[in-house]
Amino acid sequence: MFNKVEHVGIAVKNLEEAINEFELLSEQKCYKTEVVESESVKTAFIQIGESKIELLEATNNSSPIAKFLEKKGPGFHHIAFDVYNIEDEISRLKKNGFILIHESSKFGADNKKIAFLHPKSTSGVLVEICQERKE
Ligand code: ZN
Repeated sequence: MFNKVEHVGIAVKNLEEAINEFELLSEQKCYKTEVVESESVKTAFIQIGESKIELLEATNNSSPIAKFLEKKGPGFHHIAFDVYNIEDEISRLKKNGFILIHESSKFGADNKKIAFLHPKSTSGVLVEICQERKE
């Protein structure tokens, strides 16, 4: 079962510019930027109440974000749902016919274990599930 919308991911061309834009828009401060080497992205997080905005910039041309920007341009990229037990959720979703991009969880930004679902099985929306890392 999903717990809440943890964050909304937005693909951007220039992270600094996007941070300024979203800080002005939301009147909240970016509390963290982080490079995720395995995904070739630099991320920035802004907390808004219970949820966050995650801004994503590519760190090289082979980054999934670089490919996304090339195809679709900047904008909405994914929605992330917080779950209590990510491994249980992955098996539940697989059992229900959803297509997982990651067959098991991996480490993502913001101290999370994450997995992505293919938009083919989720009405065209890229869905991330995530769980806070406790260790
Ligand atoms: Zn995300």
